[in-house]
Amino acid sequence: MILDLLENGDPSRIAISVAGGGPSVTYDQLRQQVEALIKTLNQLGLGRGDRIAMALPNGLEVIASFLAASIVGTAAPLNPAYTRDEFKFYLADTGARALIIPPTGSDEARAAAADNVLLIEAELDSAGQVRFSSAGTAGAPRSSELPQPDNIALILHTSGTTSRPKRVPLSHANLMTSARNVSETYQLTSADVSLCVMPLFHVHGLVASTLATLFTGGTVVVPPKFNPLSFWSIVREHGASWYSAVPTIHQVLLSRAKGARPSGAEQLRFIRSCSAALAPQTMADIEERFGVPILEAYGMTEAAHQMASNPLPPRARKAGSVGRGTAVEIAVLDEAGDQLPPGTVGEVSIKGPNVFLGYEGNAEANAESFSHGWFRTGDQGYLDDEGYLTLVGRIKELINRGGEKISPREIDETLLTHPAVAEAVCFGIAHRVYGEEVAAAVVLKGAATESDLIAHCRLSLADFKCPTAIYIMESIPRTATGKTQRRNVAAAITKSDDA
Ligand code: AMP
Repeated sequence: MILDLLENGDPSRIAISVAGGGPSVTYDQLRQQVEALIKTLNQLGLGRGDRIAMALPNGLEVIASFLAASIVGTAAPLNPAYTRDEFKFYLADTGARALIIPPTGSDEARAAAADNVLLIEAELDSAGQVRFSSAGTAGAPRSSELPQPDNIALILHTSGTTSRPKRVPLSHANLMTSARNVSETYQLTSADVSLCVMPLFHVHGLVASTLATLFTGGTVVVPPKFNPLSFWSIVREHGASWYSAVPTIHQVLLSRAKGARPSGAEQLRFIRSCSAALAPQTMADIEERFGVPILEAYGMTEAAHQMASNPLPPRARKAGSVGRGTAVEIAVLDEAGDQLPPGTVGEVSIKGPNVFLGYEGNAEANAESFSHGWFRTGDQGYLDDEGYLTLVGRIKELINRGGEKISPREIDETLLTHPAVAEAVCFGIAHRVYGEEVAAAVVLKGAATESDLIAHCRLSLADFKCPTAIYIMESIPRTATGKTQRRNVAAAITKSDDA
């Protein structure tokens, strides 16, 4: 289980270093801090079976809080950028008994916490140690109890076809398997230094950048957020040997690197790209400009992140492919659940000890997602003769904005709460940097402008989900059978834009 991570390596080696002047802690110090935080949570009345939410920026606080919460009960990291309405939903839906926040700011999260959610502030003390404090308790002190491999360490949400996100419970065994799979794929050792620029409320940053590194006794360097201006100086200063990010981040770095190879790039063993499609041209440009192999991987929350990856050289990395299963079985299934031969497109399906056992409280989604022991990812793709997977599309309805997954139904429903909106259909449009961006078509029954509607969305949706363009139409394009299909609406609008 997760606590074992802190006992794997050399106790004097730096486990976490916060870039930009933050603290650095050794494995020994991190273990001691996490043990102290476990005790505090127990004293605050929290234990096995309790969900402990957290809304913290990247840093030592969120990593130590995650480790402690996943050992005491179940950690439920949330995006600190959520609005009050979103926090209310996620706290209630998760059944959170406590919410860990920074001592200042976080007004939306703080205001959203109902009386039955204990607010805990996480703060660094003068010695650079994370401390929890709270004005109350969640109940009588609980005794400390080490988790079993099948206990749920982490609960996250994924966007579904309805506006309600689905809850994904991940066990200690799921997370540890995935951490091991990632570390084996890239042959990570205690000499590696991972630069974590992905948010730690998502499996990409949590499992690939952080847990896989702790699994091998290496060092995680974490800036409070990704900043292209300081990226290469952090790589140099901390001796980073790899980083993992979404294609949007690689593109931003690429567009800033005019001509010369950035100083620091020579230290990188490899760059990992995951969570959205990496365009072959971006891959080629990065390899040429940075002089580092870039390995595209394929991950998803339900698989505790990694399912496939292109291998390290000298084995072949194939542009446009997400690589081969990384100790995860991958099959391409037809609608009936039968396996398709190489070269044939079907639904990508997976099996393995990293894969979760099912959505929580959602029998319908489970019935649709599991067949013959396979978990159906909702992605479409094909395998080649060497077992490399290429993704070609999605069956599931979601917009992938630079790796952030957005349910279009959630945006439709938000737009429909505006009194002037009669119909709303949200969809993804191509975007140069984000891959996809959110747009919507609406039919009005009253007076409203595009900016009124965007402002309305901002009241209840985090910025990344808000449409950047809203097309006001006389009617929504429908198919011959009278259905609205997001793809058709998007195509009709793009066509009229081109005209
Ligand atoms: P998440 O649960 O947020 O990690 O999102 C998982 C989804 O991200 C997958 O089901 C895919 O649709 C998408 N995804 C992940 N990696 C890639 C990739 N390399 N290329 C294209 N889509 C990807």
